[in-house]
Amino acid sequence: MSIYCIGRNYAEHAAELGNPVPAEPVVFLKSTAALRPLAGGITAFPGETFHHEAELVVRLGRSVPFGAEAGWEAVDALALGIDLTRREVQARLKEKGLPWTTAKSFAGSALVGDFVPLARFEDPEHIEFGLSVNGEPRQHGDTRAMLFRVPALLAYLASLHPLAPGDLIYTGTPKGVGPLQHGDSFQLEFTQLGMVFTGRL
Ligand code: MG
Repeated sequence: MSIYCIGRNYAEHAAELGNPVPAEPVVFLKSTAALRPLAGGITAFPGETFHHEAELVVRLGRSVPFGAEAGWEAVDALALGIDLTRREVQARLKEKGLPWTTAKSFAGSALVGDFVPLARFEDPEHIEFGLSVNGEPRQHGDTRAMLFRVPALLAYLASLHPLAPGDLIYTGTPKGVGPLQHGDSFQLEFTQLGMVFTGRL
């Protein structure tokens, strides 16, 4: 199983971090050991303030051969998650042209909520989701604003190596990223389904 993450997949978020809009998907990885449920679990760096990146998380239900085109038929479920980020560490590494791994992959940095079967979504190309922290709205996403939609992401990832059932893809964050620290409570929401998932860092 692999955890793929997409960076700069919403133009307004790329702009808020001062990044150019990419011509092809920006891909990075998290370790499977970074996964954590929303409600509780170990999160590294207890004294640190992180950035939250609320994202739609796609789970593959079947394998995609190397080099194959793939679409929604390869996906079996969707969840909401947080790509927890050590923003200052990432900024320092970016400045030096070094990999971001230690800013993105550490215990508890891949928060993921309950998976909802794909069939529950009327139109998987139009999913609205939100994040609030300590009761305050922070992020609202609409997947129609993705620069690279899910089928394009699957084909791109499969051009690198085959994909396997259970692989996860964090599909990028909409604008509104901000601080999240230990003890904060948060809510992720599939707006159209009225489904709310609560958690605490
Ligand atoms: Mg992200």
